[in-house]
Amino acid sequence: MAKMQLIAAETLDRVTRAIFLKAGWPEAACAELARHLVKANLSGHDSHGVGMIPTYVDGIRRGDLKPSNTPQDLIADGSFLVVDAHVALGQKVAFDTVNRACDVARQHGVCVLNLVNAHHIGRIGHYAELAAEQGLVALYWVNVAHARAPVAPFGGREGRLGTNPHTIGIPRAGGEPLILDFATSRIALGKVRVALNKGEQVGPDTLLDRDGHPTTEPGVMFEKPIGALLAFGEHKGSGLSIMAEILSALIGRGTSVDQALTADVVINNLFGIIIDPARLGADQATREARLSAYVDYLKSSAPRDPAKPVMMPGDPERAARAKRGAEGIPVDEATWHQIVEAAAYVGVDADAVRRQG
Ligand code: NAD
Repeated sequence: MAKMQLIAAETLDRVTRAIFLKAGWPEAACAELARHLVKANLSGHDSHGVGMIPTYVDGIRRGDLKPSNTPQDLIADGSFLVVDAHVALGQKVAFDTVNRACDVARQHGVCVLNLVNAHHIGRIGHYAELAAEQGLVALYWVNVAHARAPVAPFGGREGRLGTNPHTIGIPRAGGEPLILDFATSRIALGKVRVALNKGEQVGPDTLLDRDGHPTTEPGVMFEKPIGALLAFGEHKGSGLSIMAEILSALIGRGTSVDQALTADVVINNLFGIIIDPARLGADQATREARLSAYVDYLKSSAPRDPAKPVMMPGDPERAARAKRGAEGIPVDEATWHQIVEAAAYVGVDADAVRRQG
């Protein structure tokens, strides 16, 4: 079992900002990246938190991820917004583009959004929360264009799909939004990395080794030739993943797995539909009363395990935020070491920045 240390959210935020400022990004981009990564950790998704910094610094080292990469509008016409990120820092370009899409949805009732060729944009629920904060419904399907596709299509034993997330956010006037946000693989690839760093096994029916045999050993995804992750829900998750790829990357101008530019850079393409629910007819009070009654009804189902009452999508992340916000974020030693090495590459002493403040 790996040794864990608890690090305060503000400390991880400071370390992240220091690394990317030194690497040349402007303050606003660094602040948004840090906010996103640390919120992923706070939400319990270490797969998409500060543990991604070494992967991003690898992108800097290879020259794929550069502060000079600038997004460009391809279409900004009525309800349609299509932006080519040109491999700009994903979290910042996705934050800006989703905010613009929310403006369009407020104006036209709906925005159909395609953000293409962004560097890894992180936890997609972040962008559903962003829309929900503005009272908007958001639906997203995202592909991961990477030459080393990790997920086997249903029935296959070799990777052909990304972990292609599926995300829906529903705003609540008086309550917490419903945020359903998951990878279409059994677990996100980053969670396989987290298990490897912690010296843990993954659950059964999650991975195949390079010969197609079931395994719980996370290392099979990081030694070439790699094994494969399985899709969740058999043909259903696999089908959802295929549609995420098609919507985000194949019907527009995105980059699909088989067109991935290099073997290493992680590109995300996001297809989104953002809707102003007011345009669907019900007034806010009626909508909220119905949602609230429905959530209460669902939660009234007697739990199979009394210690685990029924939760709504988004509840586990809120619970994690409360706990980790108070106690600190657990970071295993291997992950912290990788962050320190990545920081050193750009000329930052992460341990020294950690001690500041
Ligand atoms: P997961 O399996 O933990 O599922 C999370 C979702 O299920 C959340 O909506 C959560 O609220 C809900 N949930 C979890 N337990 C629940 C319970 N007991 N009752 C009710 N709802 C519950 O998530 P994952 O598949 O590991 O994905 C993790 C993150 O990885 C996501 O944020 C996703 O966007 C991100 N991701 C990003 C990329 C990318 O390329 N950018 C790729 C894959 C995944």
